[in-house]
Amino acid sequence: MKKLLAAFSAAILVLTLASCGTQKQSVSVEAMDTFMKIEYYGDESVGEKLTGEIKRLDSLFSVTDKNSEVYALNRDKEVKPSDDLSALLKRSLTLCDRLDGALDVTILPVVEKWGFLSGKYRVPEKQEIQSALKVVNYKNIEVDNDKVKLKNNAKLDLGAVAKGYAADKCLEILGDNNVETSLLNLGGTIAVHGRKPDGTPWRVGIADPDNPSDYIGFVSCSDKVVATSGGYERYFEKDGRRYIHIIDTQTGFPSDNGIASVTVISDSGTLSDALSTALFVKGLDGAREYHRDNPDFDYVILTTDKKLYISEGIVNDFTLSESDRYEVVKN
Ligand code: ADP
Ligand code: MG
Repeated sequence: MKKLLAAFSAAILVLTLASCGTQKQSVSVEAMDTFMKIEYYGDESVGEKLTGEIKRLDSLFSVTDKNSEVYALNRDKEVKPSDDLSALLKRSLTLCDRLDGALDVTILPVVEKWGFLSGKYRVPEKQEIQSALKVVNYKNIEVDNDKVKLKNNAKLDLGAVAKGYAADKCLEILGDNNVETSLLNLGGTIAVHGRKPDGTPWRVGIADPDNPSDYIGFVSCSDKVVATSGGYERYFEKDGRRYIHIIDTQTGFPSDNGIASVTVISDSGTLSDALSTALFVKGLDGAREYHRDNPDFDYVILTTDKKLYISEGIVNDFTLSESDRYEVVKN
């Protein structure tokens, strides 16, 4: 619920579409375990195409839906992939590799051990985590155009990238239908397309991890996808400790490295979504080093000691909402 609220409130701030020539439309859909809302100027029928596309992708990528393609793959260990599964897997595997496994789309057995799939949260024994980790390795996925294979009992989880991919597909549909202005909030993965009708760029709010219905600040941008991964999005607490749904692939434990949230801004939804999760795992130094080598995105990283690290490309487009609560470190 917290997650839904955070995602939704992030949208409200940017929902300032003023009237322009074509009709303002708004559609919402519950999919991919979250609440999604899309606003655009254009024909009503486009909304149906968008929600249809999101539901279609959800029914391919869901790990829990017994009729999904990913479910069949995890069960049978081999499927003839849809174009979407094949495309998203290829892109994801390149990123898993480039991120040295901080992103690993075979993390599912570990996620299951912590109860994040079932909602029956628990702290597993170290030994259980170790044995689950043994089958985690994205290199166990083999993809070619007519076959996807999972080796060594691996299981696929596209949870870190699916919403970003859905954003990319929705943007394609909007473009094909000549929609020039739209705002997509796919459960906290936010795509801003075109400029606001008054010609100014969008302002996307970045949630305050301590109070996710509030914002630490805003990024002004156009034609970008802004994805945030935060420890506040899904977690449980046990014996005074917080366990979050982002897993450190090296230890099999929820990531606990002083990061409160990572927001990534790039041209691609899949890239933003993948990186927000992976750079959270990499931690501050790892994330900054990765950015030096791969500058095709911008970031806003918030640490638990209330520091904000903003990449150079976006620093002039970022506005802090309460200047005394956070120390901004520019780099
Ligand atoms: P959210 O879904 O809350 O926006 P993310 O995009 O960060 O968050 O994705 C988190 C999901 O990705 C988890 O629920 C889990 O299914 C999966 N996941 C967790 N840790 C990793 C990881 N290190 N690599 C790949 N996938 C992960
Ligand atoms: Mg992600």
